[in-house]
Amino acid sequence: MVRRPRSAAARPEHVTGPVRTCIGCRARVSNQELLRVVADGEAAVVDQYRRRTGRGVWLHPSPDCLAAAEKRKAFARGLRVSRALDVDGVRQWVARHAQRDRV
Ligand SMILES: [Zn+2]
Repeated sequence: MVRRPRSAAARPEHVTGPVRTCIGCRARVSNQELLRVVADGEAAVVDQYRRRTGRGVWLHPSPDCLAAAEKRKAFARGLRVSRALDVDGVRQWVARHAQRDRV
């Protein structure tokens, strides 16, 4: 039996289209895999339809990446705000999404 190489779909360097950096794990992947997050007043919110203007940051919909991003204050830094942002909305979104899509 011959071992086949891993599918190209699993290799980030083969993705097409815009590539963004996850603010949690710093991986560069297709923006299809990431959530766009924007600042809305005192909160960081998920820009689900990617229609909001202004600065956004990108994050895997994963609790690990969210925790890493929070730890290094990547939301406030990436969104260029001086205060800490409330990320509850993002956390809830990730919790819902992770249950459904976690592989
Ligand atoms: Zn990530």
